[in-house]
Amino acid sequence: MRVLVVEDDPDLNRQMKAALTEAGYAVDTAFDGEDGHFLGDTEPYDVVVLDIGLPKMDGVRVLEQWREDGRTMPVLILTARDRWSDKVSGFDAGADDYVTKPFHMEEILARLRALVRRAAGHATSDLDCGPVRLETRASRVTVSGNPIKLTSHEYRLLAYLMHHKDRVVSRTELIEHLYDQDFDRDSNTIEVFVGRLRKKLGADIIHTVRGLGYLASEDPGKA
Ligand code: CA
Repeated sequence: MRVLVVEDDPDLNRQMKAALTEAGYAVDTAFDGEDGHFLGDTEPYDVVVLDIGLPKMDGVRVLEQWREDGRTMPVLILTARDRWSDKVSGFDAGADDYVTKPFHMEEILARLRALVRRAAGHATSDLDCGPVRLETRASRVTVSGNPIKLTSHEYRLLAYLMHHKDRVVSRTELIEHLYDQDFDRDSNTIEVFVGRLRKKLGADIIHTVRGLGYLASEDPGKA
């Protein structure tokens, strides 16, 4: 999953980037409204954290512009405690959720997990595919109840495919959603990661769809 953080406070921006990276996201950051708007307009994010009080272009305007241009990714806004009206204008501009500053990082992480899984059509935090279970709260994977140790890249790949279970995901889409802006993208690495992931899982749930991409499914015939 790939997340954009738009926050002008450098310490808070850095803390969020660290916490989100630790939680397994590919993270891009922006420090003002213009840069943030540009990234959200040109890169495909699974979820966005958007501060409302931003230099150059305020958060509500950024969000309005994205929505006008048809960008539908879930957006969590950050508002100041005493600015209830920011929440109202934020929701009216197309926000999906909000957190009031100051906040606990755990709350941001939990809300982002909920937004990501809701956007993919899942109501619960554990996702199942055959014997494989992805526990998004703990970033943990089990096969028939046994924990499997994955690297952060392998986890991210599996998480993306399982959030989009029974849908063919192209290599390009995977690359766009698994790596941040600065990553040296090489589509061959996806095949390498898929190979390693299959070996570690031991279960046959990741299928190659020739010429199209990959599919996580316990029953590929129905996809
Ligand atoms: Ca701010």
